[in-house]
Amino acid sequence: MTHSLPVQYNFSLRDLNTFGVQASAHAYLPVTSVDTLQDVKRDTDLVAMPRLVLGGGSNILLTRDFPGLVLHVGIKGIEIVDEDADATYVRAAAGENWHQFVQWTLAHGLGGLENLSLIPGSVGAAPIQNIGAYGIEIKDLFHSLTLFDFETGEQTTLNKAECMFGYRDSVFKHRLRDRAVVLDVTFALPKQWQPNLRYADVTNELAARSITQPTAQDISAAVIAIRTRKLPDPAVIGNAGSFFKNPVVTTAQRDALLQRYPQMVNYAQPDGSVKLAAGWLIDQCGWKGKTAGAAGVYENQALVLVNRGGASGAEIAQLAAAIQADVAQRFDVQLEPEPIFL
Ligand SMILES: Cc1cc2nc3c(=O)[nH]c(=O)nc-3n(C[C@H](O)[C@H](O)[C@H](O)COP(=O)(O)OP(=O)(O)OC[C@H]3O[C@@H](n4cnc5c(N)ncnc54)[C@H](O)[C@@H]3O)c2cc1C
Repeated sequence: MTHSLPVQYNFSLRDLNTFGVQASAHAYLPVTSVDTLQDVKRDTDLVAMPRLVLGGGSNILLTRDFPGLVLHVGIKGIEIVDEDADATYVRAAAGENWHQFVQWTLAHGLGGLENLSLIPGSVGAAPIQNIGAYGIEIKDLFHSLTLFDFETGEQTTLNKAECMFGYRDSVFKHRLRDRAVVLDVTFALPKQWQPNLRYADVTNELAARSITQPTAQDISAAVIAIRTRKLPDPAVIGNAGSFFKNPVVTTAQRDALLQRYPQMVNYAQPDGSVKLAAGWLIDQCGWKGKTAGAAGVYENQALVLVNRGGASGAEIAQLAAAIQADVAQRFDVQLEPEPIFL
């Protein structure tokens, strides 16, 4: 079937993933409104193809050419939609840049998202892995989202419970995988704002700036400074941030490991489980700063894999597998990648 949608074929994705790896899409379509998705749903050729919904490409590893249709979400718009005694409700379209959206809320005097400053990517991808940093996850301020469901062709609203948020997890990695396109996300930003200073990095940075009563803007500025120091800029060296999730173990496993490695970094969780620091485990195996072909492990942070120039996605995946094998052998802990492999 012929169609009037501006589909481009054999389209390079190199500039659309922050690892900067070369891979092409069989078909590529920018999405600027839900109408485009409805047109795709009606097009028998396009709807039959495997689909990849793409935002900023900062949490994917393209290990090969994508044999289907890439839907590149660019829907724009931010507005305050409601308020009550507790919160101001702000809705942002999926194609808005996450960091710019956070800055928009702060410029409008709305605190809450400041600890999540400078996370790359789009608003629409933020719920997929329930992005988090410096003591906050988006689920803490999430109100609802609208999605387009390719199975039904309908738009649906999901509330927080329906999104089933977990640590770097949501319903979009399970039941709604490959089926839902997030169109917009609404956040409930509290009227009674309180600073979240659970992370020592943040309090230390504020102390260094002699700030004792931080505003949301102060915390954002501190987080931006910390992240700029710690994490490589994808515009300079390709990466997808933390490559592995922090593994969650039982207290019995932690205690057994502490017997052998008394220095091991670990964080007790409210549910009784324990999070280990994946970066520490990788560092102990001697991987920090290592290079394998054109892929490597970042010098300042063992949790970040990098493209040193011209690496393929497959090369980065091989390096990740070698790290996983070493950590499993030494600590009997399985590391799970954070980015989506394609
Ligand atoms: C330097 C750096 C630092 C990072 N730091 C953090 C951090 O501190 N905390 C954190 O949680 N993450 C972090 N990340 C990971 C990344 O920024 C987030 O996961 C971000 O939400 C990905 O957004 P994106 O638009 O780039 O998604 P993409 O990489 O384009 O897509 C990621 C996944 O979401 C799906 N998706 C994207 N848009 C939509 C949509 N509209 N509807 C349905 N599905 C969609 C894709 O299909 C894919 O499965 C970091 C990444 C980098 C490069």
